[in-house]
Amino acid sequence: MTKIAFPLDALARMHELAASHADESCAVGFVQPASPSGLFGQRRYVVQALEPVPHEAYQRRTPERVSLTSEFILAVSNRARAAGAGIALLHTHPGANGLDGFSPVDDAGEMPLADYFGGRLREQAHFAGVVTHSNLHLRELGCGPSVIPMGVGPTVHIYGVQPSIAHSDLRYDRQVRAFGQAGQARLRDVRVAIVGAGGTGSFIAHELAHLGIGHLLLIDHDTVDTSNLNRLLGTTPADVGLPKVAVAQRAVLAINPQMQCEVVASDVVDVTVAARLLGADFIFGCTDSMASRAVINQIAYQYLIPAIDMGVAIHVREGRIASVTGRVQMLSPGLGCLVCADGLDGQQVRWELMSAAQRRADPYFENASIPQPAVMPLNGVVTSAAVAMFLSALTGYPGDARLLHYDGVRSAIRPQLLAPRPGCIVCSGEGALARGDAWGLPVRMGPGHG
Ligand SMILES: [Zn+2]
Ligand SMILES: [Zn+2]
Repeated sequence: MTKIAFPLDALARMHELAASHADESCAVGFVQPASPSGLFGQRRYVVQALEPVPHEAYQRRTPERVSLTSEFILAVSNRARAAGAGIALLHTHPGANGLDGFSPVDDAGEMPLADYFGGRLREQAHFAGVVTHSNLHLRELGCGPSVIPMGVGPTVHIYGVQPSIAHSDLRYDRQVRAFGQAGQARLRDVRVAIVGAGGTGSFIAHELAHLGIGHLLLIDHDTVDTSNLNRLLGTTPADVGLPKVAVAQRAVLAINPQMQCEVVASDVVDVTVAARLLGADFIFGCTDSMASRAVINQIAYQYLIPAIDMGVAIHVREGRIASVTGRVQMLSPGLGCLVCADGLDGQQVRWELMSAAQRRADPYFENASIPQPAVMPLNGVVTSAAVAMFLSALTGYPGDARLLHYDGVRSAIRPQLLAPRPGCIVCSGEGALARGDAWGLPVRMGPGHG
């Protein structure tokens, strides 16, 4: 089923208009495709800049119907053409008793618009939506098939989730008691990707399997070696030499045989592997590599696929542990990104994206891969905080913080507010935000891409 992701704050304004304004209100968004990767059969679009229609653009505006001036429609069409975008036309059904769905008036009014935009912007996909104070219905413009709208921000709202397939077995009973059948259904339906199946990634995979996540994609290019056995949850000495994703897949399927689990044993910074992430609804970044962090960071904002990035570090000086730290950061519209947090080292990203030959030719390249100290409990603290953050974003499980710092020496977890930096190249409207396929990702091109 097709999904279309909106910035959550823009949808919140529309719900607010439906609740507070007696007449119908309209908003226009510009729609970019988000590479159909075929992952789990999903097609996706992202909506850039959903803007309420200005007062003077209404030709007629009543509680039952609304029409826009032809000058405005033409201006919208020209803007879309310049951006290479399709159109999303939303209108409200006002009040607490507004019709929760499309009306016959909507059907009739939509067909001329579908002809108009379909003719002028032939290559693009266009959508129509009805917004009530609490719900949103979306379909392809011209009374076409329904699509699933998502509001993506510090929380993720997926409209129209059907909790009908009850987890009638007792397996999830204690969770259903915490976040309801709807919350459990959301966990079953959501497509989750984990990048990195090492010390933190193996923990995340296990926790998600126990929670009842229905669809999981695991990406890691590495194999298990003996020095990994101290911290890869679920490994045995017999796993040395196997791909990390294969070991993690075996573990999650043993925990939850109903799960669909795909694995990719390659590096996420390669262009074709990064594209696999675009079919996910949520990403966990469990990697030490700066380049893969840069990829995940940009996908989160460019494709409105929220991510949680995490990092752990133990510093040893003169034979003593000086610090034990962890960081858990959600990356999603409305939240500052890794660039805003000064969490990406541009030089390091550049080196990691180089081929072996390019590195040999680069006089400044430093190979600094000295094994870092790592212990399991630190990974456990940080990953459990990350999974709790994921639950709070998706199910209403409590927890507002979207950036956490763990200090193991003081045994303290501290939340931090990190607003997006104005003009940020990744997370602002001037940057990659909601550009979809219209922008490139910081990836390594395959052979033949130069
Ligand atoms: Zn209507
Ligand atoms: Zn930013």
